[in-house]
Amino acid sequence: MTVLRAGSATDPGRVRAVNQDSILITDGLFCVADGMGGHAGGEVASKTAVDVLRTEALIATDADGVVVAIKRANEEVIRRSLEDPELAGMGTTVVASMLVRDVLGDYMIVANVGDSRGYHYQGGGLRQVTNDHSVSAELLRAGEITAEEAAHHARRHVITRVLGLDDFEVDLFNLELFDGDRILLCSDGLSNEVSDEEIAMVLGHVEDPSTAAADLVRRANANGGQDNISVVVIDVSETGRGPAAIPKPLPSAPVMAAAVPAAKAVIPRLGEASDITQKSDEGWLARRRRLGVRRAITLRTGLLIGAVVLVIVGALGFVGWYEQSSYYVSTSGSTIVIYQGRPGGLLWFHPHLSVTTTTSTNDVLAIRIPQLQAGVMEPSLEAANAYIANLVQEYKAAQSLNPTTTTTTSLPMTPTTLQAG
Ligand code: MN
Repeated sequence: MTVLRAGSATDPGRVRAVNQDSILITDGLFCVADGMGGHAGGEVASKTAVDVLRTEALIATDADGVVVAIKRANEEVIRRSLEDPELAGMGTTVVASMLVRDVLGDYMIVANVGDSRGYHYQGGGLRQVTNDHSVSAELLRAGEITAEEAAHHARRHVITRVLGLDDFEVDLFNLELFDGDRILLCSDGLSNEVSDEEIAMVLGHVEDPSTAAADLVRRANANGGQDNISVVVIDVSETGRGPAAIPKPLPSAPVMAAAVPAAKAVIPRLGEASDITQKSDEGWLARRRRLGVRRAITLRTGLLIGAVVLVIVGALGFVGWYEQSSYYVSTSGSTIVIYQGRPGGLLWFHPHLSVTTTTSTNDVLAIRIPQLQAGVMEPSLEAANAYIANLVQEYKAAQSLNPTTTTTTSLPMTPTTLQAG
């Protein structure tokens, strides 16, 4: 069962007087909210959102639960801003992550509204999972401006989706987890000051999640600290999948947001380029839902069934071989016959008539007939023929010694009578 260990750090930065960011860490749900709005608005908005998520985390178990939680947080922020004129117009971003327990393997959901980010660190590579909902990022994704232009765009801080003003669509991403993976949630106070390469370096070198979070905040401040900085680092272990030593491709197209391309990996990982082209934009989770159970049956159960079938076929083959590996001499009416097999057969292997001889029961001693009716085993067809020849010889010898017995011994007699005689 997947175990998560989270650490966090938040700081007002070197310019802002107050910290309008809020952080949430529960057993399975994690969140960074970046509030905005005059007076106390920003603080109240982010704190309100986090408080609602804390309550909703108690009942949310899947992606739908996370979306419902964020929508309820939005309603609450709106309700409070309408209630208090001083809070009018306040809003907040939300980036939340939740572990989903699943029989096919636990996985992580990352959901976002606004420009706070979720990152996935795996196998030494860092990938931005979320798409920023900001004017410059939307223009960049639309191909209307370059990355360089986006970085200096006048409206780069203007966000296009936010809790507290209206309804919005929540972007949702599913992350397949491996031991050693780290999930990073942060406000733009980190991502604006610290490059993705530097973030990856810290996540790759600082083991303790709290220490890593504090280190990232320190670097953001060192690079300017223009905004509030909030960081949550979540360490993943005991996934049952071992560490992703060979980096795996992580296609994570948004589940709900349509036509928003997933962010590219900032550090290209071995084998990723070729793997990405192999499939359509169907995410790994959808693919697993489609193929996972069936594949599990064909692999594991298939091997087991194959082994059982081999054992059964082998056993039956042996029984069949054993049954057919001998002959017995018996009678069919008054004719002496040779069967291949064993008297009575074994399982559903039955003896079959091999030779109908020209020898009659009248050609052998009457004392032999009950034995023949029961079946006299011989190891081979030749041995069976020799046995019959011996019986005939025996009868002829007896007849030449005492010809008078001929008529009596040729009569059908019961074994008891014979033994008594
Ligand atoms: Mn901010």
